[in-house]
Amino acid sequence: MFQIDRHTPCPCGSGRRVDCCCLRPDGQFVPAGCRTSPRPPKTGYSHPRCFASALRDCSSEVSREHYISASVLRQLAVDGRVLIGGLPWVRGGEALELPIGALTARVLCARHNSALAPLDDRAGGFFGAIKREDLESADPATRGTSWVVLFNGHDIERWMLKVLCGLMVSGNMPPGKAHLGRQAVPGRWLRMLFGSLSVPSHWGLYLQRAEVGYVCQSPHPFCFKPLEHDGRLCGAVIALGAFAFALNVGLPREAIGRELSPQALHRPKHLVFAGRSGARGILVGWDRPGADKGLTLTRL
Ligand SMILES: [Zn+2]
Ligand SMILES: [Zn+2]
Repeated sequence: MFQIDRHTPCPCGSGRRVDCCCLRPDGQFVPAGCRTSPRPPKTGYSHPRCFASALRDCSSEVSREHYISASVLRQLAVDGRVLIGGLPWVRGGEALELPIGALTARVLCARHNSALAPLDDRAGGFFGAIKREDLESADPATRGTSWVVLFNGHDIERWMLKVLCGLMVSGNMPPGKAHLGRQAVPGRWLRMLFGSLSVPSHWGLYLQRAEVGYVCQSPHPFCFKPLEHDGRLCGAVIALGAFAFALNVGLPREAIGRELSPQALHRPKHLVFAGRSGARGILVGWDRPGADKGLTLTRL
């Protein structure tokens, strides 16, 4: 895998040396996670349009925002348009080319929205790295390049939770087996999202290979699917290219093997693309990693 010299610049992109940045004494690379709790003091106010209103810490204004972060959509867009699949108003299974500005709704107050903004930046970098790898591997001039980047996995996990909440309250959650409709965000999810509650050990991010039958096309559609169990919404799956990222925020331990792919990796530590000459890696650091190591794909 990747040998990272402790005196080189840290792959998190901070500009600092690895040993003064994300390298922990146990040898793990874990960047600091984003702070997502609004600055104290609490406002004591609940805005009826904000999905975090139950936390009683809203501001009085609500703006129209992207429920799938603009920072991520911009990374995936070609000429300002993205291919999106799975949304309820997109016909069965198809992906639709949409302008970035179409995917907005009023779902958060300004205070809660700005508290979550750092997650959008991190997710933009993460999906940008996946896209960059894809483009470089398709081009003979860049196929042999090697690089490594590093992200905090809890940030990606909480970004997915933010998207799940936005899809849910804006009525854009793709229809699943059960018709779940518009519903309030569970208080437990809100406390995890805004950092006052940690994610239970078997919940969180799972990485799966995209389903068999996936047709490689560029640009790749960004596809959304609900994760359900017993008629309850338990998370979401976001697929992009060769990967499906599943966020479990409700599946009981015994149902995980049934609802997710048996090969799904919990909190993977890396996505590595190994080619004949170059190797490109996206490392993911966790405070509490899953048992699985990561996924290595061979590029021909
Ligand atoms: Zn670092
Ligand atoms: Zn709010």
